[in-house]
Amino acid sequence: MERIESVATMQRHCLEARAEGRRIVLVPTMGFLHEGHLSLLREGRRRGDLLVLSLFLNPTQFGAGEDLDHYPRDLAGDSEQALRAGVDMLFVPSAAEMYPPGYASYVNVEGLTEVLCGSSRPGHFRGVTTVVCKLFSIVQPHVALFGLKDFQQLAVVRRMTADLNLPVEIIGMPIVREADGLAMSSRNSYLSVAERRQAVSLSDAISLARAAATAGETRSEVLLQMVRRRIEREPDAAIEYARICDRTSLQDLSRADSRAVLLLAVHIGKTRLIDNSYLFEEDCLS
Ligand code: AMP
Repeated sequence: MERIESVATMQRHCLEARAEGRRIVLVPTMGFLHEGHLSLLREGRRRGDLLVLSLFLNPTQFGAGEDLDHYPRDLAGDSEQALRAGVDMLFVPSAAEMYPPGYASYVNVEGLTEVLCGSSRPGHFRGVTTVVCKLFSIVQPHVALFGLKDFQQLAVVRRMTADLNLPVEIIGMPIVREADGLAMSSRNSYLSVAERRQAVSLSDAISLARAAATAGETRSEVLLQMVRRRIEREPDAAIEYARICDRTSLQDLSRADSRAVLLLAVHIGKTRLIDNSYLFEEDCLS
């Protein structure tokens, strides 16, 4: 496994690999790898013959007062896991390498980025699409894998890729969960023992809503009330949003149908967690 910090070197290697006819797969992450990231790498390994993992804590997707400075890091541990997962190239640029002095270009997807996480995190998705677009341009992947855990991010990246005619196949991967249902996230490491216990309320609430929907309740307001009641039982939980939306447009649905996705953002103490699920099917590779 090669570790590369320079944009120019990374791009040169990838252009050469493309010219040799190799199929390049990119898994973009912010590091502090867990089983969710590893599931993307395993699928990525199957889908190409040059597997690139980027570890980049992207400053432009963090707002003022967010957790950029405290975000967990473990480059040594991540490198070891990457090696074991069969990564060929580990791309770890610095912020100055990605955004040198004079940097002035941003990619913005309209509409989809203004709802849900976009309302409480203005500029977040502009940072995400900018860095993903830059990574696509540097790594030139044939395929890029993203987790359904960040459902809105995946929808936004798909929109950008289609709108800008980027020749990259986007794969959405199922959410990997802890044994009790909590969606894996680097941010789970912020939770105290008591908060960790309360954090299971997100996936519990999702299970309740899925069961009710399967049993025939399709009124979104009724399903969302169940969700809110379950989460509000926890003393340190504060719901930022709980919505049932169309999976592509992310517009609210008054009745859950086969395209419905339940989306949650909940603060447990100081930690902001997100989770989601389709209401009528398992999240499968998409
Ligand atoms: P992050 O490092 O949090 O930016 O995540 C990097 C990629 O891993 C994103 O595409 C995430 O959606 C994906 N990811 C994070 N957590 C999970 C999970 N629990 N299951 C599946 N994919 C995940």
